Amino acid sequence: EITYYPTRGVIALAHLEGLIQNFINGKFITSDRFIDSYNPATGKVWAKIPDSDAADVDIAVSAASAAFPGWSSTPIEQRSKILLKIADILESRLGEFAELESRDQGKPLWLSKVVDIPRAVYNFRFFATSVLHDLNRSSILDAVDAVNYTVRHPVGVAGLISPWNLPMYLLTFKIAPAIAMGNTVVAKPSEMTSVTAWKMCEIFNEAGLPPGVVNIVFGIGPKAGEAIVKHPQVPLVSFTGGTVTAEKLRMAAAPFCKKLSLELGGKNPAVIFNNTDLAKCVEVTIRSSFLNQGEICLCTSRIYVQRGIYSKFVEKFVEAAKNLKVGDPMDEKTFTGALISKEHLAKVKSYVELAEKEGASILCGKEPLDLPLENQGGYFMRPTVITDVKDDSRLITEEIFGPVTCILPFDTEEEVIRRANSVRYGLCATVWSSDVSTLHHVSHKLMVGTVWANCWLVRDLNMPFGGMKDSGIGREGAQDSVDFFTEQKTICIKL
Ligand code: NAD
Repeated sequence: EITYYPTRGVIALAHLEGLIQNFINGKFITSDRFIDSYNPATGKVWAKIPDSDAADVDIAVSAASAAFPGWSSTPIEQRSKILLKIADILESRLGEFAELESRDQGKPLWLSKVVDIPRAVYNFRFFATSVLHDLNRSSILDAVDAVNYTVRHPVGVAGLISPWNLPMYLLTFKIAPAIAMGNTVVAKPSEMTSVTAWKMCEIFNEAGLPPGVVNIVFGIGPKAGEAIVKHPQVPLVSFTGGTVTAEKLRMAAAPFCKKLSLELGGKNPAVIFNNTDLAKCVEVTIRSSFLNQGEICLCTSRIYVQRGIYSKFVEKFVEAAKNLKVGDPMDEKTFTGALISKEHLAKVKSYVELAEKEGASILCGKEPLDLPLENQGGYFMRPTVITDVKDDSRLITEEIFGPVTCILPFDTEEEVIRRANSVRYGLCATVWSSDVSTLHHVSHKLMVGTVWANCWLVRDLNMPFGGMKDSGIGREGAQDSVDFFTEQKTICIKL
C-alpha cells in the first residue's frame, strides 16, 4: 500500500499528484518513471522519485549551460542578495522542512530542527556574504617593473552529487558556494532522501533565482548520477558519498579533465588519555558515536581509551548508551531514530554478528526494542557498544555508518597514534586530554582532515573541511569552496 505524505499535513502535493518532479529551467517537469522512497521510521513508501536517466540530465545540463552567461555576469552583490533571500525563506519554513527531512531520513525531528535545516540556512547566508570579500592576489616585481594580479572566473555547469545522511545540510553546502561564485548547477540528491531538495526548488523560484541556475534531477546513482559525471559540458563535479562510489566516479570522469572534489567515508578514532574530564568526554563521545543513528561521516567508531581509565570509561559509556531512547523520530525524547533503509540496517547488524563470531564482547545494543505500533516496520536498532575486538577486525578497519562503536584500551601515546592511523580512512578524529601539549602533539600526528580536541562537530565554515587518504580529495569551506568553484587566472602587466 502506498501512503503518500500521510497525515500531520506537512506537504501539499495535490497539484503534483503526489509525485516528486525534476526541477529544470525553473519548472517542475513530470517524469514517467518512478522509484519508491521509504519513510525509514515506518518502512512504508512515502514518496515517488523520478527515475531520471542520461536524457533528463542532458536537458538539465542544457538549461544550466544556457543560464550560465547571464548568471556568471550578474554582479556578485546581486547574486549574494538572492542567496540571502533563499536563506530567509528557508528559515521562515524551518518547521516544515525539518519535519520533511525527519520523515524522509529517519532522524529525530528535534535534530532536523536544530542542526539540518538551520545549517542549510546558514550555508546560503555564509556563502552569500563570504564571497563578497576580496579573494584575489597581487604581487609587484620591482626588478622587471611588472605587476601581477589574479582574477577569478566561475567554471561553468557544476555537477553536485550528495548522500542521504544529512540531505539538506550537505546539498546546500555545495549549491550555495557554486552559485554564489557564478556557476550554474545540475544537482542530484540521494534517491533515498530527495523530498526536501525538491521542496527547496519552490524557494529558488520565490527568491528570484533565474531559471536554469539550479536544476535538480532525481534518480539513482549509476543512472542519473553517472550521467552527470560523464557529461562533457559539466567541467566540475563535487561529490559527497562513499569511498567505493567515488572509485566509480573517478573512473567515469577519467577521460575528461574535470575538477573533482570528493568528500568520502571515515573510520574516525577518539583518543582518550588518562587525564581527561571523564564526564564531559563520555557525554560528547556518546553524541559523536550515536548522533543521527551514527550515520554521520564524522561519527566516532573506534574509541581508544588509556588503560588507567579504561574500565571506568567503559562502565559510564555503556550506562549512557543504554539510556538513549530509540524510536519514533517525531517524539522529542528520541535520541536515535531509524536507519536509512532495510538494506543498510542489515549491513550494520552484520557487523554485530561478525563481532559475535570473532568472540568480541557486545556490552549493549541487543536488548529488544519497544516501538510504537506504527514504527514496528521501521529500521531501528539500539546503540551498540563492543569491546575485546582485534585491531585487524573489519569492525575496526571498515566504515559501519550506524550506531555501533568499539572501545579499545591503549598504553602509550606513540602506540595509539600508530593504531589510530592504521586504517585506509583519514576523515576526522577526537583527542581528549587536560594537557594542552598532548592535544597539540597528537593532533599534529593524526592523519586526518579535522581533529577536534576536547569537543566534536564544532564547525567553523571558514576552516578547510575534507579528508586525507581514502576519505577524499580536496577541501570545502570559505576559501576552499571558492577555490574549487572558480578558475584563477594570473595577469602580468609590464609597466
Ligand atoms: P553513496 O556513495 O552510495 O551515494 C552518494 C551519492 O552518489 C548518491 O546521490 C548516489 O545516488 C550517488 N551515486 C551512487 N552511485 C553513483 C555513480 N556510479 N555515479 C554517480 N553517482 C552515484 O553514499 P551514501 O550511502 O548516500 O552516503 C553514505 C556515505 O557518504 C558514507 O560513506 C559517508 O561516510 C559518506 N559521507 C561523507 C561525508 C564527508 O563530508 N566526507 C559526508 C556525508 C557522508
